[in-house]
Amino acid sequence: MRLYNTLNRCVEEFKPIQEGQVSMYCCGPTVYSYAHIGNLRTYLNEDFLHRTLERAGYTVHHVMNITDVGHLTSDEDTGEDKMLKAAEQEKMDVLALARKYEDFFFEEEKDLNIIRPEKVCRATEHVQDMIEFVKKLEEKGLAYVAGGNVYFDTMKFGHYGELSHKDIDGLQHGARVEEDTNKRNPTDFVLWFTSSKFENQILQWDSPWGRGYPGWHIECSVMSSKYLGERIDIHCGGVDHVSVHHENEKAQSEGCFGHKWVNYWVHNEFLQLKDMKMSKSLGNILTIPALKEKGYNPLAYRYLAMTAHYRSLLQFTWEALDVAQKSYDNLKARVIEIKKDLTGIVDNEKKKNALDKFDHALFNDIAMPQALAVMWEVVKDSDLNNATKWTILLDMDKVLGLNMDQMQEEKVEIDSELQALLDARKIARQEKNWAKSDEIRDSLKAKGWTVKDLPDGTVQLLKI
Ligand code: AMP
Ligand code: ZN
Repeated sequence: MRLYNTLNRCVEEFKPIQEGQVSMYCCGPTVYSYAHIGNLRTYLNEDFLHRTLERAGYTVHHVMNITDVGHLTSDEDTGEDKMLKAAEQEKMDVLALARKYEDFFFEEEKDLNIIRPEKVCRATEHVQDMIEFVKKLEEKGLAYVAGGNVYFDTMKFGHYGELSHKDIDGLQHGARVEEDTNKRNPTDFVLWFTSSKFENQILQWDSPWGRGYPGWHIECSVMSSKYLGERIDIHCGGVDHVSVHHENEKAQSEGCFGHKWVNYWVHNEFLQLKDMKMSKSLGNILTIPALKEKGYNPLAYRYLAMTAHYRSLLQFTWEALDVAQKSYDNLKARVIEIKKDLTGIVDNEKKKNALDKFDHALFNDIAMPQALAVMWEVVKDSDLNNATKWTILLDMDKVLGLNMDQMQEEKVEIDSELQALLDARKIARQEKNWAKSDEIRDSLKAKGWTVKDLPDGTVQLLKI
């Protein structure tokens, strides 16, 4: 198995710390708003990685945090507290708001068939552990108090900037506007805020440095080491995290433990919306319920995510989602056909060849588009009997996660409204009025149906 490691900027052979086991930490959502399909692209890619590791025979110990305190509107120490700002806007208690969006997030993950991590941990429930961690950093001379806050001294830590390949010297010489005059170095960051920052911060805890609350980065160092130990195999997140959040997590952890912390840093590229990044703060977000409302199956979005490599930008367009939905529907129709007649003896040699090809793609830095192409070769291979196809597809679906075993023909109760739409579509197509036919297809989609034209001139209705 080979993986791209951001730390060394190259694809490397994966070797776990402990044979047969993989520890994997993924930065979770900040629950001040809905998780959007951009965030979910990252979680989908992490799910593909998780499932691929399992396919490779590893037991995966997957931990994810829930950020419900401390994340400011910039990933650095400036701006407002995201949770507080949202709680004020929604006139809700901060923790109630956090739970609302956490539940929403897991509903979306369920719709996308993302495996729930073995351990999900909330920042607010680990504040005491964070205080202990900061105390250790202070004892090691890596932290200092200024203006009531506790800061991490990035210059005291030997290799700050190693992950993002930052030009630290440039930064030290004022290349960046620095707002916090308490900091000794521009790259230093807050470990613990006291009331010097937000006096109205509702979530506050007692600490040796005064009543306050933790900085954002500390939670990941604390919770990952609590549940996975001081050395972990894989750390994941979106590419936006490389230069600040992960660089800071790494400095704190390695500073505290006195050794290398993460062996493989895996970063996911963004989902973009019309050349803009999709983000909660820009207000251009799309969610899974919004896609469902428009008649798309969430698994069509999962399928779309598979069509791009995790290290490539993916442009979101409705046309691209339409194509993914069509491919998913096509697959569903083919799988249903295969399952109808499973006669034949499984050809184990052909099965092995197909799965070897599939694994070759996956184990080479999770090449999902290629793996998907191998799956389609199997579906369309006229030399393979259905029994062989089905056993191969079932194995592949453990990674693809498209729920092929649940694919079945829907019992269609054609009410008069549905029949009227089908009749109108038939007439529109006879008259070659494609615009009208498309319009009717959209109306059917909004009702939860896609329609497929069969070679004998009849149509098949499929539930989305
Ligand atoms: P947040 O809730 O903002 O902390 O982000 C949760 C995860 O989503 C992080 O791993 C981010 O790096 C990732 N992320 C944020 N925006 C996008 C996007 N547009 N596309 C892909 N991943 C994203
Ligand atoms: Zn993190």
